[in-house]
Amino acid sequence: MNALVLGLQWGDEGKGKAIDYLARDFDVVIRYQGGHNAGHTVYPSGQKVVLHLLPSGIFSPQTASLIGNGVVVDPLRLREEIAAVKKLGFPLGQLVLSDAAPLILPFHQELDIIFEESRYQKIGTTRRGIGPAYEDLTGRRALFVRDLLTRERFSRRVGLLNDYYNRLIGAFGGRLLRVEDYLEEYVAAGEFLRPYVENTVYLLDRYRREGKRILFEGAQGTLLDVSFGTYPYVTSSHPTVSGALCGTGLSAKAIDRVVGITKAYATRVGEGPFPSELFDRSGERLREIGNEFGATTGRPRRVGWLDLVALRYALMVNGADAMFMTKLDVLDDFAEIKVAVAYDCAGVTTDRFDPDPEILQNVRPVYRIFKGWREATGRARSFAELPPSARVYLKFIEEQTLVPVEYVSVGTLREQTIRR
Ligand code: GDP
Repeated sequence: MNALVLGLQWGDEGKGKAIDYLARDFDVVIRYQGGHNAGHTVYPSGQKVVLHLLPSGIFSPQTASLIGNGVVVDPLRLREEIAAVKKLGFPLGQLVLSDAAPLILPFHQELDIIFEESRYQKIGTTRRGIGPAYEDLTGRRALFVRDLLTRERFSRRVGLLNDYYNRLIGAFGGRLLRVEDYLEEYVAAGEFLRPYVENTVYLLDRYRREGKRILFEGAQGTLLDVSFGTYPYVTSSHPTVSGALCGTGLSAKAIDRVVGITKAYATRVGEGPFPSELFDRSGERLREIGNEFGATTGRPRRVGWLDLVALRYALMVNGADAMFMTKLDVLDDFAEIKVAVAYDCAGVTTDRFDPDPEILQNVRPVYRIFKGWREATGRARSFAELPPSARVYLKFIEEQTLVPVEYVSVGTLREQTIRR
């Protein structure tokens, strides 16, 4: 059984925790999109580790961890991350990096800053060059991991692209780049990464034929998908099911099950519409108790109530079979918990999620209010051990989405997970 595990909201759903928990049942975990803008937090053997590029299965020693061709790779950051995780005592013997993953290069970061500062709309990107690197892929200019492995080939290709972008960077008054200033560092990173590099398309096909169980790991979330999210306030890749195909080379038939991750409430970083956003004391409490500050950037996250209109849309787009709900414990102390069940759109009630910001910015959520449980859930290990009001909350979500909540997370630790 292969499974695809992805975020159903705007990212930060707690995918790190969920995938680390689920990975034990799989032989292979593959990341299929995004870059080091993702920040998955896991607590293997208690200590906190934030992963940016490495798949969250990396801490299960039996699991092969792959970085697929859909992930954009900054070779310097990847080298750093590998070194840091090795230092913690995890050997990484089973890490494989796709030879066809596009590279993030120094000018991409420069372009990211220029775009973000000159654009008529602020997107709120992490400014790490992820977007411009994806633009190069569709623009047919990208360099790939395989280009990094031969000095002559890398230097020739990166030289051409560097010249091309210097004209643009110069026109915007940005910092011009000289290849000779970074060439050696990149070639050295290529040497460091070489033992991990392979053609992952054939490798995955072999794994599949051998009957190995494969877990596809998504980064960011469905509502940030470049095609299905709240464009232009989106990421540059496909966190949805489609990204798992073009980011790995496996066929649609290889995905047996889709598990979507959602928090028990909602958060968003950066700009863009967020109908159930809170600006009051409840919002502040959700942010504090839920520790809603970016794992990568430290930015405070925007927070709000769970939005079932958005959730149903995300489940639909991905054909999700089950949900993994995280952070239920964050709601423990609330006297009242709200859930958006529909939108009021200029006086008309709708249950449709139209990702167009012009529309989504102007809807008002219609809330259903639940009594809070006012009881700690962190020690619950079964559905029956949850307080009755928490069970009512979960059952309501299932009724409204017609998708079972198969896993409930009540804390950061692996064992604080209820499997139903
Ligand atoms: P990701 O990018 O989707 O993995 O999200 P983050 O890395 O931002 O993870 C969210 C944070 O919530 C991390 O610090 C997790 O350890 C934490 N977390 C995950 N699940 C739970 C949970 O059930 N309860 C609590 N209190 N924290 C959790």
